[in-house]
Amino acid sequence: MLQLQGIHKTYRTGDLVQTALDDVNLNLRDNEFVAILGPSGSGKTTLLNIIGGLDRYDSGDLIINGISTKKYTDRDWDSYRNHTIGFVFQSYNLIPHQTILANVELALTISGVSKADRRKRAVDALKKVGLGDQLHKKPNQMSGGQMQRVALARALINNPDILLADEPTGALDTDTSIQVMELLKEVAKDRLVVMVTHNPELAERYATRIVRLQDGKIRSDTAPYTVGGAALPPPVHKNMGKSSMSFLTSLALSFNNLGTKKARTLLTAFAGSIGIIGIALILAISAGVNNYIQSIEEQTLAEYPVQVQSSALDLTSMMEAGTGIASSITSENDTDTITVTELVSSLVSVMGSNNLTPLRAYLESGESDIWDYVNAIEYIYGADPQIYLLEDDAYRQVHPDTTITSLMGMGSTIMSSTMMASMTGVNVFYQMPENESLYIDQYEVKAGRWPENYNECVLVLSSSGSISDIVMYTLGLEDYSILEDLLDQFVNGEDAEAPESYDSFSYDEVLGLTFKLVSAADYYQYDSEYELWIDKSDDEDYMIDLVSNGEDITIVGIVQPTENAVSAALSSGINYLPSLVEHISAVAEDSEIVQAQIADPDINVLTGEPFGEDSDSSLDLDSLFTIDTDALQDAFDFSSLTDSLDFSEAFDLDSLDLSEAMDFSDMELDLDLDLSSMDFSSIDMSDLDLSGMDLDFDLDMSSLMSAISINVSA
Ligand code: ADP
Ligand code: MG
Repeated sequence: MLQLQGIHKTYRTGDLVQTALDDVNLNLRDNEFVAILGPSGSGKTTLLNIIGGLDRYDSGDLIINGISTKKYTDRDWDSYRNHTIGFVFQSYNLIPHQTILANVELALTISGVSKADRRKRAVDALKKVGLGDQLHKKPNQMSGGQMQRVALARALINNPDILLADEPTGALDTDTSIQVMELLKEVAKDRLVVMVTHNPELAERYATRIVRLQDGKIRSDTAPYTVGGAALPPPVHKNMGKSSMSFLTSLALSFNNLGTKKARTLLTAFAGSIGIIGIALILAISAGVNNYIQSIEEQTLAEYPVQVQSSALDLTSMMEAGTGIASSITSENDTDTITVTELVSSLVSVMGSNNLTPLRAYLESGESDIWDYVNAIEYIYGADPQIYLLEDDAYRQVHPDTTITSLMGMGSTIMSSTMMASMTGVNVFYQMPENESLYIDQYEVKAGRWPENYNECVLVLSSSGSISDIVMYTLGLEDYSILEDLLDQFVNGEDAEAPESYDSFSYDEVLGLTFKLVSAADYYQYDSEYELWIDKSDDEDYMIDLVSNGEDITIVGIVQPTENAVSAALSSGINYLPSLVEHISAVAEDSEIVQAQIADPDINVLTGEPFGEDSDSSLDLDSLFTIDTDALQDAFDFSSLTDSLDFSEAFDLDSLDLSEAMDFSDMELDLDLDLSSMDFSSIDMSDLDLSGMDLDFDLDMSSLMSAISINVSA
């Protein structure tokens, strides 16, 4: 039951105050067909939007099944809109270049339903509105009545408890109006339907109750519903959302890698951002392929490895939300209104998580045949080496980046500096793959040699032999204060005057440059008075001492992609070996603070409080690393992978049945790989340089994308 109690709504435009709803009291039954009639401007649309959570009331209360919405958070409203409400508008809001099936399915993409299920439900919904035989038509091949039926199918696909329709027949002729009304009557058999209409005849013929509005007030109601008055229990407040921290954390993880490779297009940045912390499975299909194609394949896949990550985003929804496609489902775009795209709420609903520990154990157990199909399996951990540049008496953290992010005032806000750094592409340090065959043939050593020890690193140039300005500043080759001034000017809204060009540098100036490695555990010092570990990273004297005594990390070589390299598996910047991460983990493990924490695992050594208190508001690591074997199994459906990797012309994959060979027989597979509904048209691929690739087959980028984005939704 829905109760509107004393709802007021005014709109302010400049000095003009318009009262749209003026003390509206209305109780709606769970199952009835209500028509709202009234002259134009009487508040009908406003009323409908408030019922549907598209607009907020100024005062009064909307009580949903006994629960007040006064304290609803944005998440609660999202959840209400997505799970309880279906909308139909006068303008159908269909995406013109997509089939009606895709249009209807899209409504479910946001709610994280599996592809197969989505398809089935969309087909069912379209059958219900009598369009089962036209699934593949596009909206512009249909009549208005048919399009409104598609919109109705879309509204019903979530099986909402409440259907709201704002002048659904307003643009239709009488005959087609009647068809749509018949459908609505059918729909109203087992739910609440509230329909705004101009047409009193249709209302009288089909609705079970007619409410008349004028000047924002209810003037008449043919079937009022009075609920036991005072006997009604007071409205309860209930929070329906999950904590927003886990969302931000997941978002940070997923964006971590965005933009880390310089000069990449958005498309490739997306490909690179798909997996971060977690296991990167670098897969190369190796059966029935000639060597040439195989090596192209390998190299391409080395650059865009198949990744399994502990936390995943459904990119499809993200892109749809970002491009505003999703918004067309839920908001009516009048000419003088601004609609709001549900980016964040759709992101939240598509987050998934994996436990990768058992997967690693399985891969390493030798029980799988995975090595018949892959070239390399890489494991990437979230541990960032803490690297400093020491100049005279000053130190500067160069990894993870702090300068740009803190200068821009981002450090203390919701975004972590690592996240900002990766999104803005200012990361300079990168971890190399474990397996050198993935990159070594692609690069020419210009000076020095490849690193051999954890404390050695290599400067990777771009294919034109350059480094970015940010790398130059990081290396200490140019006065850092120039960059700081530049950013200050930018932050203060002044015209930032960037140097027009920079000097070039000789290899000798770079070879042998050293950085200082600090163990994160050493940021903390034991305070015997409070019996706590205190973070000393803000204490300059302490830090100068710590950094000066840090381990040296030395640049031992400079490399550049060879002319005929088809891919660049290394990121341009400073690259270190995976053994550095092993090293910092080992050092951390031996540290006193970690040992103290291990000795007393229940009490946080930084606060002296037990873990888990306040866990709602703080980073809940457990929730990030839960075991979700189903999702893992999904990730390993190689049969879907080969389906979507449409190389069928070039490769004979028919005989290659990976799913059998992998023997994941006890696994239940349900993988969502179809990114075909993604809109790539807005992505600028013009600076994607494929000229080095002399391919005798058509590289289908979108299929490649599908192959990469094994996105594991839990
Ligand atoms: P109806 O759907 O019955 O035509 P509306 O609910 O759209 O009426 O509008 C009710 C009143 O509120 C009108 O006076 C309208 O001009 C005003 N109104 C509606 N939406 C807005 C808005 N977004 N900004 C300013 N005024 C608005
Ligand atoms: Mg209206």
